[in-house]
Amino acid sequence: MTLPDMHRAEPIPEAARDEIERLLQSGDLFRYTAASGAPVSLLEAEFAQMMGSRYALAVSSCSAALFLSLLALDLPKDARVLIPGFTFAAVPSSVVHAHCIPVLCEVGDNYRIDMNDFEAKLPTVDAVIISHMRGHTSDMDAIMALCDAAGIPVIEDAAHSLGTLWHGKKIGTIGAIGCFSFQSYKMINAGEGGIMITNDADLIARAIIMSGAYEHNWKKHPGIAEACTRWQNKLPLYNLRLNNLSAALVRPQLAELPRRVADGLRNHDYVASKLDASPYINVPAPLAPETRAPDSIQFNMVGMEDDAIRAFASASAAAGVKVQVFGQSTDNARAFWNWQFIEDLPELPQTRRMLMSACDVRLPVHLTPDDLDAVVDVLLGAVQAATDAQAA
Ligand SMILES: *Cc1c(COP(=O)(O)O)cnc(C)c1O
Repeated sequence: MTLPDMHRAEPIPEAARDEIERLLQSGDLFRYTAASGAPVSLLEAEFAQMMGSRYALAVSSCSAALFLSLLALDLPKDARVLIPGFTFAAVPSSVVHAHCIPVLCEVGDNYRIDMNDFEAKLPTVDAVIISHMRGHTSDMDAIMALCDAAGIPVIEDAAHSLGTLWHGKKIGTIGAIGCFSFQSYKMINAGEGGIMITNDADLIARAIIMSGAYEHNWKKHPGIAEACTRWQNKLPLYNLRLNNLSAALVRPQLAELPRRVADGLRNHDYVASKLDASPYINVPAPLAPETRAPDSIQFNMVGMEDDAIRAFASASAAAGVKVQVFGQSTDNARAFWNWQFIEDLPELPQTRRMLMSACDVRLPVHLTPDDLDAVVDVLLGAVQAATDAQAA
C-alpha cells in the first residue's frame, strides 16, 4: 500500500483566491483602512456568530490571543497562572510575556488535567489557562465549578480544538475567554493567525485596544463603544493585528469546518480502534461529555522499555510514518523540562511518565480509508519489530 503525504494541507477554497486577487488589486491590506466591511471585521462577525459568542477579536496568532487575554484580565503584577504540564511551549511563553508566573499542573495518562493536582494548586493562583491539548478536553465541569467558586478566571486555549464539543457546547465558549489558532497544522489554515472570543465587553475592549486599535480604530468593532471609551489612552498598544489577506484565507474555510470535523473524527476513531487492539498500545478514551475534532492521534505505548519505544518510532519513520514520542524526541516543545525559560521549573513525575510513552501521529482529515489502512499497517508493523527486538 502506498503511504499518503502526511504533511499536505487541503487546498485553500477557490473563493479565497478571488478575494485575495481583489485585495491585491486594491492594496487594501490593513484591517482599519476601509470605513467598514474589512475582511478582518467580517471574519470576526462570522466567527462570533458561528461560536455563539458576543465578541471576537482576530489577531496574529493564538499565542498573541493568549497574551492579550491575560492582559485583558488586568491581573496583578507577578500573578500566578495555572497551566497544564502538557501543552505547547507557546503557552508558558505567553504567561511569561504577560509578566505572570506559570504554575504547572500535573496531567494524566489521558493527556487531561489531573483534577487532584488542579484542586491542590488552585488556591495558589490568580488565573487558569486550560490547553485542550491536541483537542483532548479536560473535565470542564469540575474545572469551572472549582474556578467559579474561587472567583478565578479561566482562559481556554482551544488552539487545536476548534469544532470540539463538551456536552454539545462549543469548546472555547466555556471559560471567560476562548483562543484559537489558524496556524497551518490546525483545523483552519491561514499559515498564521488567531482569534479570541468572549461575552465580556470590558475584556474584549481591553484586548481590542492592546491589539493595536489605536486612536479611534476601535469604532470599527461593533457594540463595544462604551467599554472602549472607558479604556481610551489607558492601555499600551502591542500591534498584534491580523491582516486582511489572512482573513480572506480563513473566511471561506469556516464553511468547511463541519466536514473537516466529521472526517477527522471518523478517521481518528477508525485508526484508534485498530491500534487499541494491540496489547502494546493504549488509546485513551474521550471523557463522556466530549465530542472530539481530531486531526491527529495520540496513544501510549504499554509494556515497552524506552529503547523499544524509540525503536518503534524509528521503524515507523523508516517505513514512512513520522511518530513523535513527546518525551523522547530531542528538544520537544511539548515536554515541560524543555521550558527552561521558566524560573524554578518544577518536576511533574506523572506528566513526565506519560510524555515518555505518549506518541503523536498526524492524521490530516483528507486521508482516505486506504491511506488510513496503510498508516495502521506501518504502525502495527513497527510495534511488532520493536517488541520482537525487545523480547530477543
Ligand atoms: C498551536 C498551539 C498554540 C499556538 O498557536 P499559534 O497560533 O501558533 O500561536 C497554543 N496552544 C496549543 C495547544 C496549540 O496547539
